[in-house]
Amino acid sequence: MKAVQVTEPGEPFEVVDRDVPDPDPGEVRVVVEACGICHSDAFVKEGQWPGIDYPRVPGHEVAGRVDAVGDDVTEWTEGDRVGVGWHGGHCFTCDACRRGDFITCEHGAVTGISYDGGYAEYMTAPHEALARIPEELDAVDAAPLLCAGITTFNSLRNADARPGDLVAVQGVGGLGHLGIQYARAAGFETVAVSTSPDKEDLAYELGADHFLDASAVDPAEELRSMGGAKVILGTAPSTDAMESIAGGLGVDGTLLTIAVPGDELSVNVQPLVQERQSVGGWPSGTPRDSEDTLEFSALRDVTPRVETFSLDEAEAAYEAMLNGDVRFRSVLVP
Ligand SMILES: [Zn+2]
Ligand SMILES: [Zn+2]
Repeated sequence: MKAVQVTEPGEPFEVVDRDVPDPDPGEVRVVVEACGICHSDAFVKEGQWPGIDYPRVPGHEVAGRVDAVGDDVTEWTEGDRVGVGWHGGHCFTCDACRRGDFITCEHGAVTGISYDGGYAEYMTAPHEALARIPEELDAVDAAPLLCAGITTFNSLRNADARPGDLVAVQGVGGLGHLGIQYARAAGFETVAVSTSPDKEDLAYELGADHFLDASAVDPAEELRSMGGAKVILGTAPSTDAMESIAGGLGVDGTLLTIAVPGDELSVNVQPLVQERQSVGGWPSGTPRDSEDTLEFSALRDVTPRVETFSLDEAEAAYEAMLNGDVRFRSVLVP
């Protein structure tokens, strides 16, 4: 099979021929139909994640079909449409798993980091890492929903906001363009915030009720004048952007960060105390959360905007993602 691997961290991707992997007991083999490129793939490419065994095939936004089933797997059969996201499996026995909190498993696996991921024609994954893809969803559309989608959908649905509440989505990119659609579909008064004024039309197309051009106005002041945000979803990995908008929270508001900036975040504590505000984060979710994301996306027509690339074009696709040249997700189609 053809696969794209990181042979040495910091080096360009290498397109290689490999044997098609066989599923071990408890595993499933997936024919990859599409794999999104996520900013977190930089952990593999640049060697920023401890303990990765190289060469490693990245990719944790995988949509495909079950092609072979290992021993002891009961819930999947050949031909099932499945996705594999960031959460690549769990141990079932640690304290978190015993409480059913699989996403914080102490020995959790990450797809494309702990084992080879979806930048390839085939991959194997533990049976508990798979999510079912509804028939209505195209593989290319489903792929980005398995990380960018679940992270925005699952963080918003677990946030303390109700229909009608003011919810701001900071950043209109890979995560943000989905966040706007989910916020709208959830019934929130949705504010898109971007430093690129050219994203205004698109933000309204995606369902935003308001657009704030953070290069021209003070987004915090604007949000306060609208009553203050119940949730600000931080989707752009920029401390400057997050710090400049934190002051836009209202009473009981939460700055919910799902992107990870390289630097530490600094916020004014006074309103946190005075108005019971908070700063928090959210990990993506379990495979069943992925399935909820896919089902809701099919139900409410939440669709990622993507550009597709072949495996041979992985380097260009990755660079386009890093430089923000792609609208809005690069998806590899083997
Ligand atoms: Zn990701
Ligand atoms: Zn565990």
